[in-house]
Amino acid sequence: MISAVFSSMHVHTLFCDGNDDVETMCRAAYEKKMYAIGFSEHAPITKKTGIKSDWNLNDDRVDEYVSEVLEAKQRWRGKLPVFLGLEVDYIKGLRSAIDSDIKAINPDYLIGSVHYIIPANGAQPFTVDGLPEEFLKGLNEGFGGDAQALMNAYYDAMAEMIAIGGFEILGHADLIKKNCCDKDYWPQESEICRLKEIARAAAEAGITVEVNTGGINRRKINDVYPSKQFLCFLRENNVPLIITADAHCADDINGNYDKAVQALICADIKEHVIFWGKSNKKAVWKKEKISY
Ligand SMILES: [Zn+2]
Ligand SMILES: [Zn+2]
Repeated sequence: MISAVFSSMHVHTLFCDGNDDVETMCRAAYEKKMYAIGFSEHAPITKKTGIKSDWNLNDDRVDEYVSEVLEAKQRWRGKLPVFLGLEVDYIKGLRSAIDSDIKAINPDYLIGSVHYIIPANGAQPFTVDGLPEEFLKGLNEGFGGDAQALMNAYYDAMAEMIAIGGFEILGHADLIKKNCCDKDYWPQESEICRLKEIARAAAEAGITVEVNTGGINRRKINDVYPSKQFLCFLRENNVPLIITADAHCADDINGNYDKAVQALICADIKEHVIFWGKSNKKAVWKKEKISY
């Protein structure tokens, strides 16, 4: 039995690759007694980067998305805090959270995530979040099969994203493991150095890192992002952590939060944070103890 207050701030709907609408997700969060819900559709990328995507918000639907979430905020006032957010891709040289079109939306919060890798050899950009065959194609065509080079490109992008800033929550920090953590070719030893570096950078930047159960909810992997070792580095650097579900349907609004709590306990972490809104343009977080 978990006793704690939770929110669900990493939520996708029919505007992107989710399966339910804004109202259905709000109702689920209310029924599951979440403290708050935050919508984090994948910010549009096509106009800005030329990359075609079927899971990012269409450039032409941004206004509709914003209005729908703001209307939900009004409807649920007094019952459930509803926040307007976006999950913004960091795509090297092409897209970041400080882009003017993102600022113009005036979101309550942003999640910064690395999905796309731009290979230095000029090969096509690809996402580390895709199917295993797409991942292998990217590894082979973009990096000549050199997993070390791909691993470095991924964490280089994350370090750059943190340095550029403009977002409140670091999304699924070791997402790349989804397609390679159990593979012999993956350079796990040298990855540890990168994880330490990212944990230090997150602390210096003052950002919150999510403990994301999306990989479990979507049956892609049996672990939260980030994994235990990474969580320990984050604890050593006193980085605040927020539990999120990366929910793509109402049933997953708090999907596998018990596993997130277990992961925190295994890493000797005793609290998580809840997003409390913004004050003077800075995110306000409330610490919550976890007990099991
Ligand atoms: Zn993501
Ligand atoms: Zn997401």
